Amino acid sequence: MGEISIEIKDNRYMHELVSPGDRFMIGLVRDFIEREIMPIRREMEASTRGDFELVREIQRKIVGLGFQGAFLPMEYGGWNLTSALTYSLVVEEFGRGEPACCAAPAGGAWAFRPACIAGNRAVLEDFAPRFLSGEPYVACFAMTEPSGGCNIENLDMRGKGIHTRAVLDGDEWVISGAKVWPTNSGVSDVYCVVCNTDPSLGDEGIALIYVPVPIEGFSFGRFEDKAGFRSSREGDFYFDNVRVPREYRAGGPGLDAELLHDNLIFARLFSASWAVGIAQGAFDEALAFTSERKVAGKPIRQHTLAANVLADMAIGIQVGRDSYINAAYMFDHPETYGKRTSKHMLSRSTIAKVFCCDMAVKVTNQAMDLMGHYGCAGAWHAEKYWRDNKIIQLWEGGAQLGRMDVARGYYHYDQFHPNRLYERMRAMRES
Ligand SMILES: Cc1cc2nc3c(=O)[nH]c(=O)nc-3n(C[C@H](O)[C@H](O)[C@H](O)COP(=O)(O)OP(=O)(O)OC[C@H]3O[C@@H](n4cnc5c(N)ncnc54)[C@H](O)[C@@H]3O)c2cc1C
Repeated sequence: MGEISIEIKDNRYMHELVSPGDRFMIGLVRDFIEREIMPIRREMEASTRGDFELVREIQRKIVGLGFQGAFLPMEYGGWNLTSALTYSLVVEEFGRGEPACCAAPAGGAWAFRPACIAGNRAVLEDFAPRFLSGEPYVACFAMTEPSGGCNIENLDMRGKGIHTRAVLDGDEWVISGAKVWPTNSGVSDVYCVVCNTDPSLGDEGIALIYVPVPIEGFSFGRFEDKAGFRSSREGDFYFDNVRVPREYRAGGPGLDAELLHDNLIFARLFSASWAVGIAQGAFDEALAFTSERKVAGKPIRQHTLAANVLADMAIGIQVGRDSYINAAYMFDHPETYGKRTSKHMLSRSTIAKVFCCDMAVKVTNQAMDLMGHYGCAGAWHAEKYWRDNKIIQLWEGGAQLGRMDVARGYYHYDQFHPNRLYERMRAMRES
């Protein structure tokens, strides 16, 4: 049985889809990760149980790469880097290195997409300079609430699951409510808060409102201690009549619901690529380990059984990568593939997310299997990849809502009106 060729590393991407600019960016980030992150991954994770300082140092260096304000429109000093594909490709690289450490520097792009797409001048004029200052400036997209994240992400709920209220009082929004689990909780300078102006309005009541902190009425609860993704910060925070200017609403009635859906689809794409990066890291580690470690007189990877496992891992990773690249390319080209928030696009992005997370759960598990007791040892990274990936599988609607959103691309699936036929029959009888 021959060896698995590591050549696949050099032919990961179709050049027709991944531009020279994207490949340059991948090279830059990969080089940074090899130099700055790979040698200290364990110390970074240990630092998250202490003063977090090592993680912050790496985050400052990522800001130094110059990407922090890249998502901003050119007229505000950014590079107009809005491509889901570029963002996802870069995130894949961080997945292979240390998945969570890029969450703080990259948070601005996700949290400020709504304002950028809506072209909200007040928000961009007030906040763009801070992202371009060269100093870390962190943003958070705050959606999930104590009563559940899926109730907000589920399109059928039409905002009914959002209990954080925003009421207009003169020229200000007054916000009250609670959020749990948003990434960059406690370390952010500004929060994009998913609110409801009036639950009876359905999608029209959904409002995305920017809240800079510190601000009166805003407070924190506890921070989470999680299995993986330890270099990012998640926690609870509360709004008690917090007041911000009315211009800080991203778009307006109806548009904000579209912007929320657009952001959810965007996040499923980069979540898929994060999982692919993690699986690639686990594969690289297992490949290196099985070339050195011998059983029955030869390196493990020379045994047919092990080669089969490595081949299955490589198949999953490459199919996963192809699926997120295709879906992100489609998302970036609505002129060809239709509206970015269509049910079809939601389904395509979620296929990538669900598949890549399931695949990475399996691949990280297989990497641990191939490495014997080293698979669970802290001195190696297979177990860390396994813990980090599980987290991605759980967020953004998790595995079940994900599958419901996949189904929506294939037939009309309206969870709260399952018995339309019965309703029609009753209406006919009554008429
Ligand atoms: C590390 C981490 C980072 C996060 N970052 C952010 C962030 O930046 N911003 C933010 O707002 N949130 C964030 N979250 C929260 C995350 O998005 C939610 O955890 C996720 O959406 C699921 O919500 P929930 O945990 O409340 O689960 P629930 O909504 O209570 O759902 C529980 C389970 O039920 C399943 N389910 C849902 N609907 C149905 C249905 N109709 N039928 C059957 N099963 C169903 C789900 O798939 C899930 O498995 C983060 C979470 C984690 C773990």
